[in-house]
Amino acid sequence: MAKKQFKTESKRILDLMINSIYTHKEIFLRELISNASDALDKLAYKSLTDDGVGLSRSDFKIHLAVDKDARTLTISDNGIGMTAEELENNLGVIARSGSLQFKEEMAKAEGADSADTDIIGQFGVGFYSAFMVADHITVTSRAYGSDTAYRWESSGADGYTITPCDKETVGTDIVLHIKEDGEEEQYSQYLEQNRIERLIKKYSDYIRYPITMEMQRERMKEKPKDAGDDYKPEWETYTETETLNSMVPLWQRPKKDVTQEEYDRFYQDKFGDFEKPLATITVDAEGTVSYKALLFIPGRTPYDFYTREYEKGLQLYSSGVLIMDKCGDLLPEHFRFVKGVVDTPDVSLNISRELLQHTRQLKVISTNLEKKIKAELSRLQKDDGEKYETFWNAFGRNIKYGVVSDYGVHKDMLLDLLMFHSSHDDKLTSLAQYKERMAEDQEFIYYAVGEDAGKLSKLPQAERILDKGYEILYLTEDVDEFCMQTIGEYEGKKLKSIDDEDALPESEEEKKAAEEKAEEAKDVLSFLKETLGNKISDARISKILKSHPVCMTADGPVSLEMEKYFKRTGNEMMAGMSAQRVLELNPDSDAFAALKRAVESDKELAKKYAELLYCQALLIADLPLEDPSAYTDLVCSLMK
Ligand code: ADP
Repeated sequence: MAKKQFKTESKRILDLMINSIYTHKEIFLRELISNASDALDKLAYKSLTDDGVGLSRSDFKIHLAVDKDARTLTISDNGIGMTAEELENNLGVIARSGSLQFKEEMAKAEGADSADTDIIGQFGVGFYSAFMVADHITVTSRAYGSDTAYRWESSGADGYTITPCDKETVGTDIVLHIKEDGEEEQYSQYLEQNRIERLIKKYSDYIRYPITMEMQRERMKEKPKDAGDDYKPEWETYTETETLNSMVPLWQRPKKDVTQEEYDRFYQDKFGDFEKPLATITVDAEGTVSYKALLFIPGRTPYDFYTREYEKGLQLYSSGVLIMDKCGDLLPEHFRFVKGVVDTPDVSLNISRELLQHTRQLKVISTNLEKKIKAELSRLQKDDGEKYETFWNAFGRNIKYGVVSDYGVHKDMLLDLLMFHSSHDDKLTSLAQYKERMAEDQEFIYYAVGEDAGKLSKLPQAERILDKGYEILYLTEDVDEFCMQTIGEYEGKKLKSIDDEDALPESEEEKKAAEEKAEEAKDVLSFLKETLGNKISDARISKILKSHPVCMTADGPVSLEMEKYFKRTGNEMMAGMSAQRVLELNPDSDAFAALKRAVESDKELAKKYAELLYCQALLIADLPLEDPSAYTDLVCSLMK
């Protein structure tokens, strides 16, 4: 039988496992038990609609057996099993999403040996972790619905074989041949019943199927009836199959009986994160729909979070049976980062006839959970700024998408969760905090949109607002401006771009003075429009500049930042959406005076000035110059 080779990436991880100096090798058992439990879930689910399974809920179990002489530890389950093809695909390659992430972390840690070993502990690396303690592994499996069983066998990196074999019952037996003890590591501990028992208690106690094992125990022999006064108690050993885990799922246990450490471990194990959750939410609801929920807010963005691959949802159980791994209906889009479990007896089990019949119950649950999640986030925001900032950095963008989505129907619920950079200090601020700091005469909540806070604070348009002592929110993400437009106003205060002409209220005198200036500048402005042609849609005397000579703004619904965003999308239709550019000039600046003189006396020079000011405005707005070398030539020609 020819040996098949592992796929390259899998081989690397395998090598790492085999040669691991990782000190918590014990996690291998947790990984195998968790696989067995998943396999049982799958068959239990099938049995709901398929009488052919012939097993009831209480028949499903995981059994452990130790043979000290043969140095084997066997993990058996009567779950769904694997076909030859599945053995090949599941055990020949690294398929699981967690492993993918593991691979990426590995790539990052490349060259740093010690980093490798940490990564092992942090991720569940699944089946392969067994190679940390075993030098030979045999997986015998018979898939549900199949008459033939197959055996997958491997001694590690040099490949594996798959051969047909006999197996009476559906399910999987995994036999680990435990490595010989070395100087560093006593592998024999994994053949000791007490050690195994402790490991199950530590990592797999909540597994909802019995994990059984033949345990050797000692007991005092019964005292013979005719024993005399000098009778000394005698001991005997006996074996008995015991269930090692308590089987109570964590979410069924009252919160006061569970430690945060247990919640953390459950989260990390179940959702494949190596970091602890930022927050844990428990819900025990009774009413029209009864359910228990255990939710987590992760502390970092999953690598695929903003891709199509990421699937939101909570695990849905009904009376202990896993109905759906990712029930999307339980979570609104804006909280799609939440992980967790919902268990309700009110979703009946013949769910194969479409989940539709349960939408009402699911709706009730999801509406409730949405409130709970919101409340927990608000609590974090109030009580633990540092944690909230971690949350915000990981998922803030998603909350903003939530504000914008569905024509803004969720904005009221999400508004208070929003955080922004601002001119106040380098901490993030909420709209409520901004409002509290507002000056008495301040009419608007101001914002500026651009690449980063540093650049925004130096924008010519910002000067006059900041000089008034008003705070500006610095918006640096694509979605921000859409977000502002959707919100419109916050508690009676309109949100206002600093680019808006009426961003600062004008007195009648100011208005009059401005009109006069515009009138005086009429010739210069029409000269600019003529010279610059369709590069701009208008040129005007600015009301938003203070000491700076020039800037670019936009008329109409598309702002300059939106235009940049549309261009970045690469989408042809969107890329065509351009802002109507407006060149704004400061009539009190020296540059304007020079331009005016030139328009009156030297049209050629005036054309150069017009081009120069236009390019300056582009640069300040972070917009690309159409022809940088022509611009350089222009500047240099003026130096003559
Ligand atoms: P993961 O469990 O995260 O998917 P593993 O490497 O541990 O990654 O397992 C790979 C796949 O092999 C599993 O997804 C599952 O399909 C299959 N598998 C592993 N163990 C069993 C088992 N005891 N019974 C049935 N299928 C199994």
